Amino acid sequence: MYDIKGIYEAYTVDEAINLLKENPDLHVIAGGSDVLVKIREGKMAGLDLLSIQLVDELRNIDLLEDGSIRIGALNSFSKITDNEIVKKYINTLGEAVDTVGGPQLRNIATIGGNVCNGAPSADSAPTLFSYNAIIELKGVDGVREVPIQEFYKGIGKVDLKDTELMTGVKITKENYKGYVGHYFKYAMREAMDIATSTCAISAKLNEDLIVEDVRAAYGVAGPMPIRTYKAEDFLKGKELTDENIGKFAKLALEELSPRDSWRASKDLRTQVLYEIATRCLKECRAKHKGGQYA
Ligand SMILES: Cc1cc2nc3c(=O)[nH]c(=O)nc-3n(C[C@H](O)[C@H](O)[C@H](O)COP(=O)(O)OP(=O)(O)OC[C@H]3O[C@@H](n4cnc5c(N)ncnc54)[C@H](O)[C@@H]3O)c2cc1C
Repeated sequence: MYDIKGIYEAYTVDEAINLLKENPDLHVIAGGSDVLVKIREGKMAGLDLLSIQLVDELRNIDLLEDGSIRIGALNSFSKITDNEIVKKYINTLGEAVDTVGGPQLRNIATIGGNVCNGAPSADSAPTLFSYNAIIELKGVDGVREVPIQEFYKGIGKVDLKDTELMTGVKITKENYKGYVGHYFKYAMREAMDIATSTCAISAKLNEDLIVEDVRAAYGVAGPMPIRTYKAEDFLKGKELTDENIGKFAKLALEELSPRDSWRASKDLRTQVLYEIATRCLKECRAKHKGGQYA
């Protein structure tokens, strides 16, 4: 049974914000794949919901004049994976969100819901961190743009005010152009499983395989997605050899804090995090050699 007090529907972003202003206790629902589970479990029972399903202005995926790519918050994972702009310029994100759940889930689950839910296992998050994505928010006080690294505040906690909506996510040209990337999700089952640990890496290499830039982000390696800045600094300016890849993966572990859970022990996660980072970097190298950069 779903214990829901009432449900409001908005047709535009401004209408949604006005409803939130009038009743800050309203809880936004997009695809509902997190919210409805929590309601059924009793963790969010008896709430008034605000559905944004009819807010079509949140469904665009655009290549902007300055080369930035903007994805509206209400895009489902299947729409993102199938989108031509995503495939051409930021395919790693399309591949990452294609690992979420099963096909039915990917048709309803939205990128806005994935990010705002604040789960360390969110499959869109590491790749968005590796692209230095910017979260766009709109509320009664106007529009805000927050770097994703600052948007995450802890397990299930994000920098979203009661009267705000996430309207989209933006990736600027300098953060994808010329980069290769890879996302690795390690889960106990091949499909339909929440991640045990994840890693996403974006790298820019020159013709001698020297790393000009690299950004690595990990999921379920701490309370929220984590960038490993020290390990990134180590790799910059070095050739992407197997030896340097191994050193990077080892160094990165010092910046991560995986924990024991029923899903996996800390020791197993540590081993997995080392392995998936090396695999991501080797994939980046192979994609670079194959000319698969944006
Ligand atoms: C069977 C199952 C399997 C799953 N497997 C995976 C998986 O493999 N990987 C993974 O990452 N996730 C998984 N999930 C979790 C879930 O599907 C995702 O987190 C999904 O992206 C949530 O999107 P949604 O639109 O359904 O969010 P909702 O449930 O509608 O909302 C989630 C949260 O975000 C808030 N919210 C949503 N949109 C906005 C917005 N635009 N502005 C402000 N707040 C907003 C809501 O208020 C709510 O707090 C799974 C869930 C289920 C039920």
